[in-house]
Amino acid sequence: MPAPDVIVTAPLPPFLYDPLKADYRCHDYYQSSHKPGLLAAEASRIRGLVQGGGPVTPAELLDKLPKLEIISVFGVGYDGVPVDYCRKRGLKVTNTPDVLTDDVADVAVGLVLMTGRGFAKAERFVRAGEWEKKGPELTTKLGGRTVGILGLGRIGKAIAHRLEAMGMRIAYTGRKAQPGVHYRFVPDLKALAAESDFLVVACPGGPATKNLVNADVLAALGSKGTIVNIARGSIVDEPALVRALQDGTIGGAGLDVFADEPHVPKPLLAMDNVVLLPHVGSATNETRKAMGDLCKANLDAWFAGKPLLTLIPELA
Ligand code: NAP
Repeated sequence: MPAPDVIVTAPLPPFLYDPLKADYRCHDYYQSSHKPGLLAAEASRIRGLVQGGGPVTPAELLDKLPKLEIISVFGVGYDGVPVDYCRKRGLKVTNTPDVLTDDVADVAVGLVLMTGRGFAKAERFVRAGEWEKKGPELTTKLGGRTVGILGLGRIGKAIAHRLEAMGMRIAYTGRKAQPGVHYRFVPDLKALAAESDFLVVACPGGPATKNLVNADVLAALGSKGTIVNIARGSIVDEPALVRALQDGTIGGAGLDVFADEPHVPKPLLAMDNVVLLPHVGSATNETRKAMGDLCKANLDAWFAGKPLLTLIPELA
């Protein structure tokens, strides 16, 4: 059997790309300087597609791949995949859940600590030589504070577990209350924001959650509240967030994700009460390797006629 043809629409690390190239005829659409030429020559043979968690694969591209069978996402978020289109065409879509949960939860905890205890600001204070002149500012005790989690899934639960161990109180929202969960369910996001000191965003991106955290939710979070987003930039209305920070409607923000990565709204760069990270939720060697292994293992299983290791819930 000849190696199946696979199109790659995102930059891939060598620990995923090298093994892929060993077992598949890979076509690097992402790096190709002549994409129409690549499609004209190869599209009719392509059976698999590998993409990253963030970037969007348009249905127009999928339309040009008549033999496509499977999209393997290198990431847990599949908001870049046109899911309805895939369902209609019978395409399989796999992702890399679980293996990254702990790392992403660690980043959320880091952002709670960096914003709540002012660690980023305090570190800048030392580097600027300010400590030689005066003492550091007092910050806020985290124990006893309420954390509202939007999206108590795999990552949301891992965040809750960690913050609970720090003595914080946890409440959550989502489309439904979860059986067997001891955290308090608050059906309405605005009500959850109103009672939260930290609102942590951990639900999927995509059309269903676009701008879910809007100006009203931010107003409910209030001037002492902080938003932490480790999920997707699209979930928070970013212009409204910038305005809320500028006029003191909310107290601060810890952000790992943005609406138009890698571009960060300029006003945020100058704000002392904002902590900015370059989408590093799953960015450890160990986790990215595990994600790469799972991304390839799904392709391998499919082309060997074996059960997939993961399949997105909408297609299960
Ligand atoms: P998950 O297990 O599927 O959890 C998602 C949670 O969101 C579920 O509890 C779900 O609860 C809730 N939810 C789904 N749709 C919703 C909606 N329309 N409104 C409100 N809540 C909704 O996913 P996960 O593995 O925890 O990952 C969560 C997200 O984190 C991913 O989709 C990805 O975008 C992001 N992520 C970011 C990074 C990073 O590097 N920063 C890394 C990995 C993942 P209900 O079904 O009850 O609503």
